[in-house]
Amino acid sequence: MAELFYDADADLSIIQGRKVAVIGYGSQGHAHALSLRDSGVDVRVGLPEGSRSKAKAEEQGLRVVTTAEAAAEADVIMILVPDPIQSQVYEESIAPNLKDGDALFFGHGFNIRFGFIKPPAGVDVAMVAPKGPGHLVRRQYEEGRGVPCIAAVEQDASGNAFALALSYAKGIGGTRAGVIKTTFTEETETDLFGEQAVLCGGTAALVKAGFETLTEAGYQPEIAYFECLHELKLIVDLMYEGGLEKMRWSVSETAEWGDYVTGPRIITDATKAEMKQVLTEIQDGTFARNWMDEYHGGLKKYNEYKTADSEHLLETTGKELRKLMSWVNDEEA
Ligand code: NDP
Ligand code: MG
Ligand code: MG
Repeated sequence: MAELFYDADADLSIIQGRKVAVIGYGSQGHAHALSLRDSGVDVRVGLPEGSRSKAKAEEQGLRVVTTAEAAAEADVIMILVPDPIQSQVYEESIAPNLKDGDALFFGHGFNIRFGFIKPPAGVDVAMVAPKGPGHLVRRQYEEGRGVPCIAAVEQDASGNAFALALSYAKGIGGTRAGVIKTTFTEETETDLFGEQAVLCGGTAALVKAGFETLTEAGYQPEIAYFECLHELKLIVDLMYEGGLEKMRWSVSETAEWGDYVTGPRIITDATKAEMKQVLTEIQDGTFARNWMDEYHGGLKKYNEYKTADSEHLLETTGKELRKLMSWVNDEEA
């Protein structure tokens, strides 16, 4: 079972005694910077010249300097810019400003796990990753609660890197909920697998295949959209609240019976064998290498996939149908 750490296990004064740079002010960056500041930590935000986020951070009372200045001033540097550009930001602005005794922090292990960033031996390398989007992390902190975090140490130069990571997690409210100890390898590989096989890739493919099966059989796309996409939220909410058991308690006995007998015909041993292959390609670095080649090669295939799906009947049907449901998304029009 996982090792869990709470407020009583973490010493806030450790991070209060350091100078923290939060690089990036997006989903995670704003939540970390504001909550650390409110926890009495000396924080500066590092952003490039001309960054769109700068005005927002300053409005919220934070001091913003360039990424290089932030890295030079601070002795704990948390990198919260998008994963594909982290190695460039690191090479250009952070590495030249690292000193022995500094700590390099991450919100996701991708660049360390696959070797795109190779920190020097004299710095601590750790991760504090909230298991939720930044806006939830910040809101929970303000309400006196917290989002569970996972924490890991890749390189323990000081001998105290995990205590520092727990202290940081306490500063953003994570230890109020609970912090689970992991490794960069476990976090990165499971995160990539989950989003590819189940959460994003698996779910999107399942929804599309179901929708296509119904529409190709002559059923109306609007009806197919409700059955294969719209109602998914209800099912997922029930699973989120109480696992498969609560979902099965809530749906009809007919739906529950169909679940038992048909689910395994859809997700078969062949699907699971393919999942294992996907995991292998994550573990051996094939996925990371291909994705970085695609990203830095101009995102050609990425944009082709994006366009193709935006023109799919599922999406064009949904766009119209959601206009009938004012509560679904007020901003979409
Ligand atoms: P976002 O895309 O929300 O943040 C982007 C931020 O980085 C913006 O403030 C952007 O500024 C800034 N930025 C862009 N380029 C640079 C640069 N060259 N130098 C400095 N800052 C730059 O990122 P996320 O918060 O989603 O992700 C950050 C990290 O957190 C990632 O490692 C991610 O895997 C991890 N994570 C994310 C979670 C999430 O829910 N989003 C959950 C857990 C972990 P500008 O406004 O100018 O573009
Ligand atoms: Mg992910
Ligand atoms: Mg039904």
